[in-house]
Amino acid sequence: MRMKKSHLLAPGPTPVPPEVLAAMGQPILHHRAPEFGAVMEDVRAGLRYLFQTEEEVVTFAASGTGAMEAAVVNVLSPEDKAICIRGGKFGERWQEICEAYGAEVIPIDVEWGSAVNPTLVADTLQAHPEVKALYVPASETSTGVRHDVEALAQIVRPTDAILVVDAITAIGVFDMPTDAWGLDIVISGSQKALMLPPGLGFCCVATKKAWKLVEQSTLPSYYFDFKKEYENLRKNSSSYTPAVSLVVGLRDVLRLIRAEGLERVFARHDRLARATRSAMQAIGLELFAKESPSNALTAVKVPEGIDGTAIPKMLREDYGITIAGGQSQLKGKIFRIAHLGYAFDWDIVTAVAATEMVLKRLGYDVELGAGVRAAQHILLEG
Ligand SMILES: *Cc1c(COP(=O)(O)O)cnc(C)c1O
Repeated sequence: MRMKKSHLLAPGPTPVPPEVLAAMGQPILHHRAPEFGAVMEDVRAGLRYLFQTEEEVVTFAASGTGAMEAAVVNVLSPEDKAICIRGGKFGERWQEICEAYGAEVIPIDVEWGSAVNPTLVADTLQAHPEVKALYVPASETSTGVRHDVEALAQIVRPTDAILVVDAITAIGVFDMPTDAWGLDIVISGSQKALMLPPGLGFCCVATKKAWKLVEQSTLPSYYFDFKKEYENLRKNSSSYTPAVSLVVGLRDVLRLIRAEGLERVFARHDRLARATRSAMQAIGLELFAKESPSNALTAVKVPEGIDGTAIPKMLREDYGITIAGGQSQLKGKIFRIAHLGYAFDWDIVTAVAATEMVLKRLGYDVELGAGVRAAQHILLEG
């Protein structure tokens, strides 16, 4: 077998810093021991910093979808109405979860590759004043588009509805201050910008309006219980056995994020994103996002006549580089290079160089190095 060094540039899971991997390999702490209480205390402060909130952020042992489900079952009651902003796989997931619990969804359909028009949201909300919650992904990972959460928050704030934001590829990528923008509930997951293995889901219930709905909610739930979990969190504890090793890793990544500083974290993601976009355009490719591309990942259209599924396959099999293809209706039509979390300049250079080589081998007319050069010019800003 040929030995290969592997590079993970998928929009989740993402690479974990080696020192964090080592910390998670330490002997297991008991979750009721004082040492673990101290870890929880650190984690609480770190998550408040990351989410830019005075409120607490609860952590569940679940993938990001678990946190999404928690933000439905704790908020809605049977037959409640909710608006879900679609336009990608993750927007659609909100609808699927709401409907699984018997809520009535008013979908707002957005063309895949576009961002939602806030005016349309305002009109829909006005036409349906009985709506309890509006669910939106801040960064739609399936299309690489960022929705304007700040504008949505301004629309939702004066109404009785709350805004629930899936920030799984937003938190730790770009500025989305929970309190300053008045976001009601923000959820995230561990395996994207948080540089951890999969397995933790985060929920921040940030406003009185959101807590009022939580008090009224009658959907069935047991494990995902905000009231119970928040009560325990305030004692540096949790209702059930937490994923202790992941929480220890969480303490460490939150320290790394705080040491770099949110502003610099956002600037790094912005630079890597611009370098990747510029590289793809320099080799004649078109971005899939028609507007407001997310800084978490770059979705690129597969050029005419090229086998789209072969791109991620060859990158992985021949070069050890993992990127993502398209999902659902975009299968074979786009490929997605992620640049979030533990991602730095040379990850981009590597991914761009290998993508050029794969495209050339697949018959696409590319001048080797043209994309790399375009990326370098942006990375020079360093
Ligand atoms: C990754 C992701 C999720 C959650 O997926 P899980 O596989 O459940 O962790 C949800 N929303 C967005 C926008 C994502 O990128």
